[in-house]
Amino acid sequence: DRVLLYRLGDFFECFFEDAVELSRVLELTLTGKEGGKAIGRVPMAGIPHHAAERYCAELIRRGYSVALCDQLETTPAKGALLKRGITRVLTPGTVLEEGMLAARRNNWLAAVVVEPATARHPLRWGLASADVSTGDVLVMERNGSDALHQQLAQLEASELLWAAPDESSDEASTGKPAWCPERLRLSPMARTPFSAPEAEQALKTHYRLAGLDGLGLQELPLALRAFGGLLQYVNDTQPLDEETRVPLDVPQIVHSGDALVLDAQTRRNLELTTTQRDGQLQGSLLWAIDQTLTAMGGRCLRRWLEAPLMDLQEILLRQAVVSLLVQQRPLRQALRRLLRPMGDLERLAGRAGAGHAGARDLVAIADGLERLPQLSARLDNSLEHWPLGLDALLTANPALSDLASQIRHALVDAPPLSLSEGGLIHDGVDPLLDGLRNQLDDQNAWLAEQERLERERSGNSNLRLQYHRTFGYFLAVSKAKASSVPDHWIRRQTLANEERFITPELKEREGRIFQLRARACQREYELFCQLREQVGLMATPIREAARAIASLDALSALADTAATRGWCAPELNDERTLHIEGGRHPVVEAVRDTPFIANDTHLDDRRRMLLITGPNMGGKSTYMRQNALIALLAHVGAFVPARKVTLSCLDRIFTRIGSSDDLASGRSTFMVEMTETANILHNATDRSLVLMDEIGRGTSTFDGLSIAWATALALANEVKALTFFATHYFELTALPDQHDAMANVHLDATEHEDHVVFLHQIQEGPANRSFGLQVAKLAGVPDSILRAAKDKLGELESGQSQGPAPTQTELSLVTPQQPSAALEALKALDPDELSAKEALDRIYQLKQKLDDDS
Ligand code: ATP
Repeated sequence: DRVLLYRLGDFFECFFEDAVELSRVLELTLTGKEGGKAIGRVPMAGIPHHAAERYCAELIRRGYSVALCDQLETTPAKGALLKRGITRVLTPGTVLEEGMLAARRNNWLAAVVVEPATARHPLRWGLASADVSTGDVLVMERNGSDALHQQLAQLEASELLWAAPDESSDEASTGKPAWCPERLRLSPMARTPFSAPEAEQALKTHYRLAGLDGLGLQELPLALRAFGGLLQYVNDTQPLDEETRVPLDVPQIVHSGDALVLDAQTRRNLELTTTQRDGQLQGSLLWAIDQTLTAMGGRCLRRWLEAPLMDLQEILLRQAVVSLLVQQRPLRQALRRLLRPMGDLERLAGRAGAGHAGARDLVAIADGLERLPQLSARLDNSLEHWPLGLDALLTANPALSDLASQIRHALVDAPPLSLSEGGLIHDGVDPLLDGLRNQLDDQNAWLAEQERLERERSGNSNLRLQYHRTFGYFLAVSKAKASSVPDHWIRRQTLANEERFITPELKEREGRIFQLRARACQREYELFCQLREQVGLMATPIREAARAIASLDALSALADTAATRGWCAPELNDERTLHIEGGRHPVVEAVRDTPFIANDTHLDDRRRMLLITGPNMGGKSTYMRQNALIALLAHVGAFVPARKVTLSCLDRIFTRIGSSDDLASGRSTFMVEMTETANILHNATDRSLVLMDEIGRGTSTFDGLSIAWATALALANEVKALTFFATHYFELTALPDQHDAMANVHLDATEHEDHVVFLHQIQEGPANRSFGLQVAKLAGVPDSILRAAKDKLGELESGQSQGPAPTQTELSLVTPQQPSAALEALKALDPDELSAKEALDRIYQLKQKLDDDS
């Protein structure tokens, strides 16, 4: 299941079906070679070896795994082929190369072990996810296929490993399991690495442990097995010796109450990290607030947005740092100056540990580590308590300072990219290298002296002794002087106006110089590898510091956003409330040229649901989302786009917004809408925040209205979640008259010279118009259609419609209800004044009036 790239001279070639596929995917020329009678012509496609990384990056991006088979020697044994072997296996979930990773997001490799449901137990699963490039490892174990689906959809892993079921089992015959999100790459693996004994052994070996009790995974047997399989896969893809391991942190257990639950559609609807329209970062919440300066900080902020905190104390600890940095601008700026040039220490340390780091990587590590004491000096004493992880910055680790000095002492400041051509190590680091360099200096002095002597002897001051990569050392004289050179000079090359010569003595010196240079380069490489190994052994403390830097970067970014955009610190408490004064939408505000109209919100234990009505384009969706985003940002520990906010800690945010069908899984628009509604009704609690935008629009008016009606009642009175309920069914605005927990609010628009002007200001009470035709006009619907629609609207409003009679509800969507004679008569009745006979008569009369009405 991997593409094999096989080194032949200057190319990596692939063969057979690999060649056919790669020539298509990478637009390579498909060539071929005769493979003998039995095989026939072998298709081949090649990529230049120096461009291998670029092509591999493209393959990884498209989800391929690649095995590189390289030449292991430069000169073959007599009569033999060059020795070759697999030097690197690249898979989307295990790459470490900078060019193959997105800097600002984690690259997750996940593994799952599933125990199918039985009559007595629900489906149970254990999930392990590791970012091999940063060392993060998360494990969890839970019940339920849906929960696994949600978790995997949130993780967006590059690769998902799974112990493929036995051929004979039911699971095997059904193809991709239901819990696997559509777009995820599932790599079925052999079952053995996922067995308990193998997995335990893999963990013990990786972490060099005698027993696993210290990891606290006793209660998570399936997650442990998943992680064991994952470790084995990682080790199989890295050509490391027995002793070296890709550095991975000990697994961090994720508990269900750790983070605010945001299911996949909520993430999508709130556009946390990508937009719904085109799946791009630009236009998302992350895009609007991400002022981080380092890749580590960028990844950290993304993780925080995807998993906002639920623990009030933790939220307050983060908020305290943001407040400090908002208030103390010079401190914020000083910290950000130190953070700006910081390299990606998390990934650099990983590359060092796995033996892939170059000299520039180590210099970047030293550079980062040297800034640590400066960062901690700035932070020291600023706060009494710091958020978890950030304290690693405050207690300087002398071992890291020593490591930075060691790197500085050994490596030159700006080393070359290549590790094999020398120029990496300072003088005075290693006596052997110094000795070789002294000898080389002597040889160079001899060359200079030789040039001087030859010039003197020939009287030709233009004679030069030079070096060429291919031809080696030579003596160069102009064409005119070429005939008078000594007899023992050997002509080597003729150029347009110069002749180049070598001499036996020069050749002999050249051999010595080459030998010395090769030995020096080899020695430099050895010294570099020793240094890299030492740095790799420190990967864990480097990463601890890196995580603290990442948190500080994310917090300083939140502070910067808050300070520059006038955001406020939300007040979190235990009473059920969402009170927002002057709230704004962080993204809409950022992209608008005209001022954003701030709006208030007030929800609490007694007023739990806002029924939002108003014209199309009036700002209902914007208002609902801005409230959800403010609540979410508050749970991240961030400041929020508002004048004043008080809110209680939530457990989940649910959204049912917009319409999209899910053709891949065979669900129509309305089916998707109802599935999402059912999910909310089943899972929301009185601590949840729910956004319902126009539910029931995907079916007939009566069906839709009834569903919307019943759902609103259930959310307000049974679930008791804090709810925003936007609707165009004006019938629903009657609900607050009978239910205290509900209130009407609306957005308004006015008409000005046949144009509609949206006010975007939220007000108490219901709206009574949709301005649908005016919005259609704005959208460019042709005039002829608009005229026809206007005529039809007039008919509907005056009740003179031809064709099928509109229902009462459809009419009421475009105009306030006509007074009904039956209703008027009913209102005028006083039942206490009526005898039984009179009451019966009135019923007959009312029935007659009703028939007349319709
Ligand atoms: P529909 O019923 O057609 O879905 P809507 O009422 O949900 O419409 P929105 O999509 O929220 O309307 O808003 C339409 C546009 O109005 C937004 O894209 C935004 O540009 C602008 N807008 C919304 N709210 C505000 C505001 N408070 N201040 C300024 N502009 C706003």
